[in-house]
Amino acid sequence: MDSQYLPMSEAKISVLDWGFLHSDATYDTVHVWGGRFFRLDLHLDRFFGGLEKLRMTIPFNRDGVAEILHNCVALSGHRSSYVEMICTRGASPTFSRDPRDAVNRFMAFAIPYGSVANPEQMQRGLHVAISRTVRIPAASVDPSIKNYHWLDLVRGLYDAYDRSAETALILDMAGNVAEGPGFNVFVVSNGALMTPASGVLPGITRRTVFDLCAEIDIPAVAGEVTVDALRSADEVFITSTAGGIMPVTVLDGRPIADGKVGPVTRQLTELYWRKHEDPNWSTPVRYP
Ligand code: PMP
Repeated sequence: MDSQYLPMSEAKISVLDWGFLHSDATYDTVHVWGGRFFRLDLHLDRFFGGLEKLRMTIPFNRDGVAEILHNCVALSGHRSSYVEMICTRGASPTFSRDPRDAVNRFMAFAIPYGSVANPEQMQRGLHVAISRTVRIPAASVDPSIKNYHWLDLVRGLYDAYDRSAETALILDMAGNVAEGPGFNVFVVSNGALMTPASGVLPGITRRTVFDLCAEIDIPAVAGEVTVDALRSADEVFITSTAGGIMPVTVLDGRPIADGKVGPVTRQLTELYWRKHEDPNWSTPVRYP
């Protein structure tokens, strides 16, 4: 924070920061696996895109942010890490209500790597429920700006817990599948992949699935994913920086197909983790 490296317990933001008061912030999360950042450039692109769309400025360019991220990981010593960069609107020194008066703040942290799905869920697949809460429309909050507008997603989680599921899928205003709390979703039907085209965060893991499918000749398209398509899919999986490609085997208490993790999900998951050693896809952390 403010060009200082601190233990997490000493990192503080003002309660008057608009990031805290109004969710007026953008962020990105990249992970380190086996001492290497995975697709750092794509995460920096998305983060700087968000800054521009929100008219925020930080006193660092891409190389400057990358250096800070390297330092956070190197100083914390993690070999596998969840690394977040954040810009908040900041606070206005005059307490004005004009966002242009606020002083934007940049901060970053590195914590141990964590996944949406725990090891048992990775083995047997996640149990998911379709939430009754609808995703905030893209016309209100631009989903291409990675943001903390999570009230719909958190309501979705509690909806899911109330129905003994482990996480939620959220529909859009038209009743089609959108995404979940921190992940995109894919269905596999007759050997082809489909994921929602719009109203979702353009996830880097989602993009990675398209890149992997192109390599191994599996057809993959972005389009409208109906609830029926989800229920009748051969396989369903979710994607996130926090966990990669994660199987879903139960939807609203009923098994998807035979209720087992499917072969396409397995193949893509294996390939995804193999790419973490590939210098075209990953960058070594500059440890001291
Ligand atoms: N959708 C939402 C709402 C998210 O917050 C995230 C990641 N945190 C994703 C999708 C997945 O994006 P990525 O693969 O870039 O982590």
